[in-house]
Amino acid sequence: MSDEIKFSIDGVEIKAIPGQTILQAADAAGVYIPRLCAHRQLSPHGSCRVCTVKVNGRPQAACTQPAAPGIIVENNTDEMKAVRTSIVDMLFVEGNHFCMFCEKSGNCELQAMAYRLGIAAPQHEYLFPSRPLDASHPEVFIDRNRCILCGRCVRAAKELDNKNVFQFVGRGIHKHIAVNAEHGLSETDLAGVDRAVSACPVGAILRKRVGYSIPVGERLYDKQPIGSDIEADRSSAGK
Ligand code: SF4
Repeated sequence: MSDEIKFSIDGVEIKAIPGQTILQAADAAGVYIPRLCAHRQLSPHGSCRVCTVKVNGRPQAACTQPAAPGIIVENNTDEMKAVRTSIVDMLFVEGNHFCMFCEKSGNCELQAMAYRLGIAAPQHEYLFPSRPLDASHPEVFIDRNRCILCGRCVRAAKELDNKNVFQFVGRGIHKHIAVNAEHGLSETDLAGVDRAVSACPVGAILRKRVGYSIPVGERLYDKQPIGSDIEADRSSAGK
């Protein structure tokens, strides 16, 4: 194809089509770049920075940076792993992520990312925030203490559910996820089956009355590290 773009990730040639980001091209080639705010069905957000790679020697978010001819991308290096470990480490201490008590355990992307990066214990002091819960909705609750501000719920509601349910308010350490209603989630048109609910990578938005329907030990990341599905695409294609 004449307009095909070729570049490299860790020395491996990657082909991309115009308009693809580095992350999208890597996914298509079966090369896993760790990420938390990025989601295949949602527009890029570039907020978590877990997908940071070096592009021609400069740090860039792979989820928003377009693939370009001849660029040299460093992904699976000790330096990038250290950057990601530091980011994930800070996400853990900034919220209250008590995995052993969280219904999302085993299906949580933050927890799975920590395992993949080899994080055994955070290097920074816990902040132990106290943020309000919203359990007013009959099917869904929000625990903001587990929110990593990835924005997936905001985008999934707008782009997939065609609803305006979530938004960010506040700045800096006061930034938090809010709902588009005066008295909480119950006043929105959110439904338990909405993609905005299932898109949350952590246990901040959860459905009620379905907890532990899949036992701990039999969940997605109990069986395989996060990113294995993308890497499996590569090995099954014999790349
Ligand atoms: S509630 Fe979940 S999906 Fe929404 S911003 Fe927080 S972590 Fe992301």
